[in-house]
Amino acid sequence: MTHPIYLDYAATTPVDSRVLEAMRPYFADSFGNPSSVHRYGQAAEAAVDSARETVASVLGCRPDEIIFTSCGSEADNLALRGTALAQREKTGANRILTARTEHHAVSKTAEQLEKYYGFRVEWLDVDEHGRITPEAVKKVLNEQVALVSVMYANNEIGTVNPIRELAALCHEHGILFHSDAVQAAAYLDVNVPTLGVDLLSLGAHKLYGPKGVGALYVRKGTKLVPHLTGGGQEFGLRAGTHNVPYIVGFAEALRLAKEERERRFGHVQPLRDHILGRVLEEIPDSRLTGHPAERLPNHASFVFKNVDGNLLLTLLDAAGFACSSGSACKTGNPEPSEVVTSLGFSRDWALGSLRITLGKDTQPAEVDAFLQALPSLVERARGLNQR
Ligand SMILES: *Cc1c(COP(=O)(O)O)cnc(C)c1O
Repeated sequence: MTHPIYLDYAATTPVDSRVLEAMRPYFADSFGNPSSVHRYGQAAEAAVDSARETVASVLGCRPDEIIFTSCGSEADNLALRGTALAQREKTGANRILTARTEHHAVSKTAEQLEKYYGFRVEWLDVDEHGRITPEAVKKVLNEQVALVSVMYANNEIGTVNPIRELAALCHEHGILFHSDAVQAAAYLDVNVPTLGVDLLSLGAHKLYGPKGVGALYVRKGTKLVPHLTGGGQEFGLRAGTHNVPYIVGFAEALRLAKEERERRFGHVQPLRDHILGRVLEEIPDSRLTGHPAERLPNHASFVFKNVDGNLLLTLLDAAGFACSSGSACKTGNPEPSEVVTSLGFSRDWALGSLRITLGKDTQPAEVDAFLQALPSLVERARGLNQR
């Protein structure tokens, strides 16, 4: 058999060759520390400055509103911990509103703020598609709230949240709004003036950039307590010598994602729609998870009743298909995902989750081969489950 067909682009993507080329000079030729005064330092600093301008232009913000981080998770951590501590100091507010459907980089950070820092977390209601509505936020919004954090698009179920409405609602009440756009930025508009967010997290490796680099947009005037203290890098908000090649690669990947957004969107959506239709039609006791329309264009996710999701993944892998049961971080955990159970699925459904996510170069023949193989593999997993 040739190499397996990769259908897990929400977990990570390969580095685009153009991105790799942009990064290459900064490993050895132009290796300076951007904080150094000499010409080696100046060349590295110029590369970081230029990357910052590129990211800012994609987001429609000022370069000094971009903080480079080591990953999307770190951007989420900095957003939550940084604003929670700063807001409490400023106004005494000690509540954080977020949801169980968030990526663990947000939900576990909120839990830590509750356990060790004395904040109170209010878990927002989600609807049956995993959406956070303005009504759900309105119900629990008051002046004790330091921050509301709701992701732009969900990694496990693909659902896109009404970020503009949520941000506008928070601002009516003078409350900060953060959104994790790590998954969304590959396909959706991340213009921050349009979205109206105060903070926005990004990561490079979900959009054909390298793993290990991300960014946080912080609206001018928003106070943050740094969580990585040391040197004065990143406007004093994130110490540590810049990862110059990765920052350069991230900016190039984000620039290409914007430039090619319509083409990529138009390529994956019909293939994805084909998967949604065929799977639900051909596989008995199958249900879509997440929103049927308001979802990422490359994202298909299902639950199959009485199927062990991890077993199905193993069977798929043996048959030459790389998929996921949801979040890449949860693979191997026998408990159903909190995201899927929060949609109201019982355990016998929730354990059988499957996520198929397409990439800009996914071929129709690859999707067809997958659709050909899946029904009998689900049947086999069901048979093994009954024993
Ligand atoms: C992947 C992902 C993250 C974490 O990003 P890393 O760069 O892998 O740390 C956070 N949020 C969402 C929605 C993601 O999909």
